[in-house]
Amino acid sequence: MQVNKVLVIGAGQMGAGIAQVHAKAGIPVLLHDKEMEYAERGFQTIEKNLLKQVQKGRCSEQEKATILSRIELTADIEVASDVDLVIEAIVEQMEAKTKLFSKLDKIVSPQTIIATNTSSLPITEMAASTSRPENVIGMHFMNPVPVMKLVEIIRGLATSNQTYETVHNLTKRIGKTAVEVNDFPGFVSNRILMPMINEAIFSVYEGVATPEAIDEVMKLGMNHPMGPLTLADFIGLDTCLYIMETLHQGFGDDKYRPCPLLRKYVKAGWLGRKTGRGFYQYH
Ligand code: NAD
Repeated sequence: MQVNKVLVIGAGQMGAGIAQVHAKAGIPVLLHDKEMEYAERGFQTIEKNLLKQVQKGRCSEQEKATILSRIELTADIEVASDVDLVIEAIVEQMEAKTKLFSKLDKIVSPQTIIATNTSSLPITEMAASTSRPENVIGMHFMNPVPVMKLVEIIRGLATSNQTYETVHNLTKRIGKTAVEVNDFPGFVSNRILMPMINEAIFSVYEGVATPEAIDEVMKLGMNHPMGPLTLADFIGLDTCLYIMETLHQGFGDDKYRPCPLLRKYVKAGWLGRKTGRGFYQYH
């Protein structure tokens, strides 16, 4: 199946990036958030990203205008009945996602593929909240979406080969590289990355070193482009906590216990870059 129109749900940092890369590849996008002002904020992020590309000479003013003209904003998903693919990028909570999936199932046509950008939650469980589990798949983009090449593609238990092929081909069409993984908590990326970030947070909690020192050790010593605490702030500490909880519950193993300091920061509303404060402060 050829994807001719995409609905992206959730215009936060991931949803905005996902909308941008599809529009850049010539695919019309409907970008939805629960409030119009959130959808508009997502659109402004895309505008800013493209402006930077123009300033660096990587994109012309005309291309920028064309890409933006392919993105339509909406606070009403009922208008989305004609899309071939939905990509969900809302908050990392199973209850919110399954509620949305069962609503979408009644709105979009029976052939429409419903993909989720979840970082860690079971695809099979989300698929079971619809009447089309064969058309449900994980499409896990990396942050920042316009820059990062990888898309982890995760089959649920019932995902059909046709759904997989369609999403695999689309991933190539938008200039990304697909890697297929199985449906286990955290998939591959966050099963490995998130315990490292959690351990870095334990190191702050136990007074092993300051956030700056921990990040410097990992950058200079391990050649990581960004230290784990800078990365945690970039991902969002709420998302990091949800992922650790999914690993902890999913494997039933205390080695995935979220650090109490991570819980404390999330409770304080220190969610990282997006709220101006996390392990570092942002202006
Ligand atoms: P975010 O907080 O930046 O954005 C989430 C957006 O979803 C918000 O604009 C919010 O208003 C909207 N939203 C929430 N509930 C909604 C609903 N029911 N209907 C419509 N819109 C709704 O979060 P994010 O960092 O963009 O993460 C989104 C998803 O992508 C999560 O599942 C996360 O795990 C996953 N993800 C995040 C990263 C990352 O680095 N942040 C990387 C890969 C995947």
